[in-house]
Amino acid sequence: MKAAAVFPTEHRFDLVDHPEPHLSSASEVKMRMLDVGICGTDKEIVNFQYGTPPPGSPYLIIGHESLGEVVETGKDVTKLKPGDLAVATVRRPCDVAGCAACRAGRPDFCYTMQYTERGILKRHGYMTEWTVEDAAYVNPVPRSLRDVAVLVEPLTIAEKAVEQLWEVQRRLPWALAVKPGEPPGAGRNALVLGAGPVGLLGAMKLVMEGFDTTVYSRTGRVGDVAGLVHGIGAKFVHAETTGVAALAAQIGNIDVVYEAVGASSLAFEAIRYLGVNGVFIFTGVPGRKGPVPVDTDQLMRDHVLKNQIVFGTVNASADHFRRAIADIGAFAQRWPRALSGIISHRIPLEQAAAALSGRVEGIKNVIAIGGPAE
Ligand SMILES: [Zn+2]
Ligand SMILES: [Zn+2]
Repeated sequence: MKAAAVFPTEHRFDLVDHPEPHLSSASEVKMRMLDVGICGTDKEIVNFQYGTPPPGSPYLIIGHESLGEVVETGKDVTKLKPGDLAVATVRRPCDVAGCAACRAGRPDFCYTMQYTERGILKRHGYMTEWTVEDAAYVNPVPRSLRDVAVLVEPLTIAEKAVEQLWEVQRRLPWALAVKPGEPPGAGRNALVLGAGPVGLLGAMKLVMEGFDTTVYSRTGRVGDVAGLVHGIGAKFVHAETTGVAALAAQIGNIDVVYEAVGASSLAFEAIRYLGVNGVFIFTGVPGRKGPVPVDTDQLMRDHVLKNQIVFGTVNASADHFRRAIADIGAFAQRWPRALSGIISHRIPLEQAAAALSGRVEGIKNVIAIGGPAE
């Protein structure tokens, strides 16, 4: 079968002919891949900055943002049947007996950093025609979400972040005293840094949670991002014309910052404007550039005097995937145009190299393997 693969030692990216996988246990499912999203991690992998093939393989099949159709199930599988659409999780646990996180089924909090990840670290990914996976890692998706379910994986980042946000804010007794019928973020302000897929999906989640949400980004050359943001009832502030101080003055007390741009200089500029009892969430992984001057006295004073919390978050649990699937359904009901507007292009597997090179513009580009979207 065809697969998009990177050869790290040869510094080569190519379509390869990889053996088609078959079920090897009663708990596995086989899927025909339909859509595989491309993100910054994939572009880093094909630039040989990141990514490790499975042991013994010269190449790594890339792709971790997936949507497939189940074609065959092992005899012990009850939650999936042939014909179901499904999204598989990415990270698999380490095998260190003492890793409490992995042993509890939460490799997204792995202590040893010896986890593996499909399409990234020591496991082949989904940018291929067929895949086999244990059903424990595969989540059913309603057929009605065929065209947008490839966005489930990038949304899981916001699902995990927002879950932790509410865990943190349980320290504020009144914050959970939500009026009947009101979402938990009602009357609070959220700022999203960045308008890529992670930022836009995060903004949708924050709007659903009731936050008065502002997205701050350079508009770049990609379509009508500002219009898309307005379409979900959030504000868009152009970074080209409005500085961070003026942005903060427009918002008022910033209760949450959802960082989704991976630029530490912007993040640490914005952190100075985090509000009283505010929470700052990092999701980006910046490349290592030069040091950035930061007023550490000011930062530390604010963290203490304003009771602030800063946390980083990565990956997601199976539960976050289930919530993301439900929320993609809710977004599709509420903002069908904005949600499908995040997907800019569907590109055949044969043109993966061009799509991964960054030459194809777009918010989220998707490798369409299983024929056109419905
Ligand atoms: Zn990704
Ligand atoms: Zn672990």
